[in-house]
Amino acid sequence: MSLAEIRLVLHRDEEGRTELIEQKLRWIRSQRAQLADAESFLEHVIGCRHDLLSRCPDCTRYASTYPPNKQARPPCG
Ligand SMILES: [Zn+2]
Repeated sequence: MSLAEIRLVLHRDEEGRTELIEQKLRWIRSQRAQLADAESFLEHVIGCRHDLLSRCPDCTRYASTYPPNKQARPPCG
C-alpha cells in the first residue's frame, strides 16, 4: 500500500476509506485464491503421470483457468 493509502485507511473520517479497504480486501482474497490454485496445480504435477497436459483432466482444468480473469495488480487508492 502507498503512504497515501495507509493514511486514508488509518483516518476513520476520510472519504472513500471503506471503499478502499473493501477493494484491498477483494484483491488480497483474489490473490490468495490464485496462489491456492497454483499451489494445488504444482502439488499435482509432481506426481502427474500423463505425458501430455491435455491428457490429464486435472492439468487441463488448471490450464483452462489460466491466466485468471482477475485483477493482477493491487488496486490503487
Ligand atoms: Zn496432471
